[in-house]
Amino acid sequence: PAAGTFHGLVRAAADAHGEAPALVEGDRRLSWAELSAAVDRVAAGWAARGLVAGDRVAVQLPNGVDWVLAVVGALRAGLVVVPVNTAYTDPELSHLLGDSGARALVTAGPRADLDGVPVVVGPPEADGEPPADPDDPSALALLGYTSGTTGRPRGAMLTHAALLANQQQVLAVDPAPVRPGDVVLLALPLFHVYGLNGGLGLVAATGSCGVVVPAFDPVGTLALMAAEGVTAVPAAPPMYQAWLAAADAAGSDTALRRAFAAVHTASSGSAPLAPRVWTAMRDRAAVTVWEGYGLTEAAPVLATTLVTGRAKPACIGAPVPGVELVLRDSAGGPGAGPDPGSKVREDVFGDPFGDDPPDSAGEVCVRGANLFAGYWPDGADGPDDEGWLLTGDIAYRDAQGDLHLVDRRRDLVLVSGFNVYPLEVERVLEAHPEVAEAAVIGLPDERTGESVRAVVVRTPGSALTAEQLRTEAARSLARFKVPSSIHFVDQLPHSLTGKVSRARLRELGLHLVA
Ligand code: ATP
Repeated sequence: PAAGTFHGLVRAAADAHGEAPALVEGDRRLSWAELSAAVDRVAAGWAARGLVAGDRVAVQLPNGVDWVLAVVGALRAGLVVVPVNTAYTDPELSHLLGDSGARALVTAGPRADLDGVPVVVGPPEADGEPPADPDDPSALALLGYTSGTTGRPRGAMLTHAALLANQQQVLAVDPAPVRPGDVVLLALPLFHVYGLNGGLGLVAATGSCGVVVPAFDPVGTLALMAAEGVTAVPAAPPMYQAWLAAADAAGSDTALRRAFAAVHTASSGSAPLAPRVWTAMRDRAAVTVWEGYGLTEAAPVLATTLVTGRAKPACIGAPVPGVELVLRDSAGGPGAGPDPGSKVREDVFGDPFGDDPPDSAGEVCVRGANLFAGYWPDGADGPDDEGWLLTGDIAYRDAQGDLHLVDRRRDLVLVSGFNVYPLEVERVLEAHPEVAEAAVIGLPDERTGESVRAVVVRTPGSALTAEQLRTEAARSLARFKVPSSIHFVDQLPHSLTGKVSRARLRELGLHLVA
């Protein structure tokens, strides 16, 4: 019978082709049979520590075989996993431990207990029979903590069924981004649901082989890709940027081309991929980057250009099979589906980055078996009674019907009542050859309510002034969209998946650009 749980996928792959390679990490190579046996030993180890089905365990390990064993072993024992960002400090970790009620924390090395939660160094292994497999697809598998609109991260409750549903939705895309026999690069952080399910989950579902990268460094990863003959690359914008920068530094695209020589599908998701990067990958590495869109709450993939087969920069294509997606007026609150009284904007057209402003854009509203069951512990703010979830993201369709993300609703800047989408302004600023990166935020303004402010990283050696850049931007942007101030910095605050934290910039912004 087909597996209904994440750990069941590992056992099914072991049954189907036990000797085939499952995971590679440096010199460590595990077949599916070896991985499955090790998962059972870790499940026994969790049981030996007195943990029972439904208990939460937090895992803060770098990418690697140990990460997979700790997490899949915990799932096999019926536990609920809280994957923790490796960059989190104790206060951030403490919030996750307290909020989830974690009964153990897995770390790479010894450390002091935090808030009385016992520390387990590496995946716990024990001999003997693993506990009975609860084998319940409707059971919770993960709490995916996401930073949320305001305040502290909340745990998105993802069941085994939701994770497997998203794998099937993605694998139903023709051509599938991951196929049996593939060698899949697992360089995305596994603690994020994109790496976890969009990387490792697809490897398990197809019984292909994952090449795990413990710490991403662009030069080493390119060499590893060529050496292992990587065929599928789920990735995020900063990785493509870093690969191109490495080629620039080397003064040659050879390593880049070799790394991608056997790759049939390279994807990008979780943050906007700059059109410049998309084009450079095409021209210099001969790689089409297929862009996808998703969120933790959707386990995570919702749409990708692979569905339409039309790869274009700054486009997220169409929903994957099994996901319904409509664009609607942004009046409703979170969780409010497209109620009959509201105007569902399925028919919107227009190019916000061309002559036609994005006033026909709507909020992305989705439904599918991949969606979460609300936030821990009580399922708050989950899909509505009809199963619809408002994502908070604004998108529009282009003339070919393909979706483009405009921005997050909460990042909209309202200048004298006019909507300004920061991403549109960022794209214009980044089109300047001396701008390496730009971030745009809104700050309170006595005269206009809010005003557009930009924080910009210049290319090395550039002496570009704020006034020159404003003048240049005014050639493509309506006056109310032109940043009223531009502040130059050495770098922008990024998450590991490449998002610039506009919330963090807004915090800094008040004195940065005052
Ligand atoms: P939060 O959303 O609470 O700030 P987060 O960023 O950690 O936290 P994720 O679930 O990782 O949460 O991110 C989902 C969001 O990432 C989407 O709502 C969307 O705004 C953005 N996103 C995902 N894919 C893309 C993409 N291809 N282009 C632009 N933005 C994207």
